[in-house]
Amino acid sequence: MKKKILIIIGVILFLSLFLLFFLYFKNDEDDLNYEDKFKDNGYSPSEVTIILDKVPKDSYDYILNLGYDKSLIDILSSSNYDENKFNDYIEYYLKNKKSNINDIITIVNSGYDLMSYPASSLLASLVQEKYYINENVARYLDYGNSHNQDSKKIIGVVNSKADLGFYSNIYDSNLNDNNLILVNKFYHLKEDYTPSDLVTLSGQYNRGANNKMREEAASAFMKMVDAARLENIIIYNMSAFRSYDYQVNLYDKYIKRDGKEAADKYSARPGYSEHQSGLCSDLNEISDSFEGTDEAIWLKNNAYKYGFILRFPKGKEDITGYKYEPWHYRYVGLEAAKIIYEDDITLEEYYAYYIENTSD
Ligand SMILES: [Zn+2]
Repeated sequence: MKKKILIIIGVILFLSLFLLFFLYFKNDEDDLNYEDKFKDNGYSPSEVTIILDKVPKDSYDYILNLGYDKSLIDILSSSNYDENKFNDYIEYYLKNKKSNINDIITIVNSGYDLMSYPASSLLASLVQEKYYINENVARYLDYGNSHNQDSKKIIGVVNSKADLGFYSNIYDSNLNDNNLILVNKFYHLKEDYTPSDLVTLSGQYNRGANNKMREEAASAFMKMVDAARLENIIIYNMSAFRSYDYQVNLYDKYIKRDGKEAADKYSARPGYSEHQSGLCSDLNEISDSFEGTDEAIWLKNNAYKYGFILRFPKGKEDITGYKYEPWHYRYVGLEAAKIIYEDDITLEEYYAYYIENTSD
């Protein structure tokens, strides 16, 4: 009985080994065969080594049919080459034969479906941006090709819809967004909207007539003011919540004084002012001369620790639609404020990517 089992095991072992050897030598023989074929195509011995090493075996015939192409070797030799994406590289390369190989590899490696878009260094730099959203790619390229901007700016402008023109597409602000509610030149609050949890800032926290803020924002605001005070930085509210009607009067006054086009650069149309949200405050000195003061510098560096952001930063005018306002701070909560501060983005960019973007 024992003998029989041993014989059976022996036979099985022998057959397995035979099969393994057979497959091994057959493969080698295949490679030898292809080595000659690729050489016949015009590839040098070192190029053939690269091909046999990096091209998936089932694509050998396909590559042979394409004839000699030095760019194939460039693709295979790139340090960013990923064998799993071989078919995509070739497909994209064949559509973009004149393009830079590194751009082609970067674009394919991004994982986004961009086969129908021409390869370019602009596209390659866009796909590497953190806030890239694939469904916006056509608009990124349009805007990028007509504006000489870096890719982060292009993505910021397009994600926030600013490429379409301010006040061009109008949506209702989503009240469910709570602390992250967006009120800007695209999203507006209804005429009758007043937050239900406004509280009054008083004493050392306020020197203005518009002294109401939503509860959570107000308590964060007071915390921030207290912390600043410990460093001898005196901060106070000048203007927080403002009603729709208040903004009607303000905006009309500015139009009469400076004209509509100028007024739109610094004042919001009624319903489009963030001040109606009860989540922001104009601090200390509502004037360009606030910039560079100890208070302005402290706020810029520390407000995010209390959930506030500088809402209309310098250099972001084409995203926010407002000129730089060193005095206007907006409450968004700790988590968003940290990301906005660290990534140097605006609420518009944050909102587009983290709230509105449903593509992932
Ligand atoms: Zn303001």
